[in-house]
Amino acid sequence: MQLVCATANAHKVDEIAAVLGDLVELLPRPAEVPDVVEDAGTLEGNARLKARAICAATGLPAVADDTGLFVAALDGEPGVETAYFAGPTATYAENRDKMLDVLTGVTDRRAEFVTVALVVWPDGQELLVRGVCAGHIAEAERDGRGWGYDPLFVPDDEHPFADGRTFSQMTDDEKNAISHRGRAFAALAEALRTR
Ligand code: IMP
Repeated sequence: MQLVCATANAHKVDEIAAVLGDLVELLPRPAEVPDVVEDAGTLEGNARLKARAICAATGLPAVADDTGLFVAALDGEPGVETAYFAGPTATYAENRDKMLDVLTGVTDRRAEFVTVALVVWPDGQELLVRGVCAGHIAEAERDGRGWGYDPLFVPDDEHPFADGRTFSQMTDDEKNAISHRGRAFAALAEALRTR
């Protein structure tokens, strides 16, 4: 089946394509479709706004995802505002700096990445799944690959890949096996297969 991907972020498209594998032909987001304002206030609501906009523009089923980092000591912030933690035009590095700043001296560094993935069909049907990766925020950035909060996020998991490394210190395959987005899209693949 074909799904138009609502994200234009190449890192994410690669991660999603790796997880959905042969089941789905992921079509790129058409360049002429304008960005939607993600102001729904929830991950689900924002994913729905994005998927509906792409579905309406293309006439094809569309998939959108939205992710937040929920930090326990910050009462779940930045959550739905994760991309804008350090301000509306914040870079990934600025967001990481702010995270380290606000957690200075904080011992409870537990955090969860949550991804909602949502498919919308032209007839209005929807399929919604979630993926969660629990972990903690490291005391300092760790070098390596990766983007966003990857150099700061250490997944805590039973999985052998979760061995104290940050996401940025893992390979793509290791990260995809345990990440919030990997889990959400694995759940999506399963739900599409059995639909
Ligand atoms: P989005 O909804 O996928 O755009 O995610 C919102 C924000 O969460 C991004 O701008 C990143 O800062 C952060 N984020 C989402 N997924 C990841 C990830 O896998 N690693 C690191 N940061 C992420």
